[in-house]
Amino acid sequence: MNRREGKPFLINFDYDKILGEIPHRLNESLAAHTGFKTGGPADCMAWPQNREQLLQTVQRLRAEQIPFFLLGNGSNVLALDEGYRGCVVKTEKALTELHFEDDGLVYCEAGIQLSVLCKACQKNGLTGLEFAFGIPGTVGGALFMNAGAYDGEMKDVVVSVEVLDIHGNLRTLSAADMQFSYRSSAAQSEQLVILSGRFQLCAGSASEILARMNELMQRRKDKQPLDKPSCGSTFKRPAGSYASKLIDECGLRGFRYGGAQVSEKHCGFVVNAGGAASADILALVEQVKTIVKDKTGYDLECEIRLLQ
Ligand SMILES: Cc1cc2nc3c(=O)[nH]c(=O)nc-3n(C[C@H](O)[C@H](O)[C@H](O)COP(=O)(O)OP(=O)(O)OC[C@H]3O[C@@H](n4cnc5c(N)ncnc54)[C@H](O)[C@@H]3O)c2cc1C
Repeated sequence: MNRREGKPFLINFDYDKILGEIPHRLNESLAAHTGFKTGGPADCMAWPQNREQLLQTVQRLRAEQIPFFLLGNGSNVLALDEGYRGCVVKTEKALTELHFEDDGLVYCEAGIQLSVLCKACQKNGLTGLEFAFGIPGTVGGALFMNAGAYDGEMKDVVVSVEVLDIHGNLRTLSAADMQFSYRSSAAQSEQLVILSGRFQLCAGSASEILARMNELMQRRKDKQPLDKPSCGSTFKRPAGSYASKLIDECGLRGFRYGGAQVSEKHCGFVVNAGGAASADILALVEQVKTIVKDKTGYDLECEIRLLQ
């Protein structure tokens, strides 16, 4: 029996026995691993050290019917204040292979940072991924979310994705099978564990690719509140408008709830302005949605994934 915020709770599973040699920690603070830097502890967090260990981790957790959550960088994840009753599985140490194949094909495992993939492609004179430079997170998170920016999306460059499905089968899905759409993929609806992606890029000038990457990074620095914890754009872009424009027009720039705030710099970002609880962020998001709906008629949809 442990005590958390004065309330007794039980860790129901013997993680030490179940995970054995796979590195893991009990009661790991999620604030240290998620974009807003908020959230209570996860019962367990595991860091499988290679692909085999990651597959083992998932298999063992499933066999014991333990809820689990794959976590890349946590750049698009909000953890609840009450934490997570299950095991969070980090991919960063497990899925780290990146290699170049013939004719502009690139194989990259899901735990690699998107920025590392972008830089490697640039150095190899391969164009197509410039848009993704500056999106924080792993390749797995980017595929799961179909991350995108500046008129590019992951779906534009994906050829296939290697996954572990809910039945424990290893499968290679085509880009069509992945059903990519705006900030969405089949990985979300089918609870797929993404292991790697294969990307088709084109030959280009390394110096021009670098210049474009630097230009887009500078735009981010100029426009986004990168000095404050956030999960990037909080809301999806509604058809026919922009979330940040609607929020601004409703007079919500700088609007606060507790430690959560609509960024002064970019209204599309909710930020942790200091000492926010996850409950503050969720309450602020709800208030923004209500006010925007009342004043403009637009329904805003949250882009951020809840760790629950
Ligand atoms: C400052 C800032 C700017 C941002 N700008 C952009 C932007 O321009 N465009 C954009 O699209 N996003 C943006 N984001 C959001 C975020 O960076 C992206 O969604 C990113 O792709 C998340 O990657 P991650 O590794 O951090 O995923 P996480 O946040 O760890 O996870 C996101 C989701 O993916 C799932 N997941 C992660 N890895 C796997 C895997 N291997 N298998 C199965 N599921 C997995 C998680 O379970 C979770 O549901 C921004 C965020 C910040 C903080």
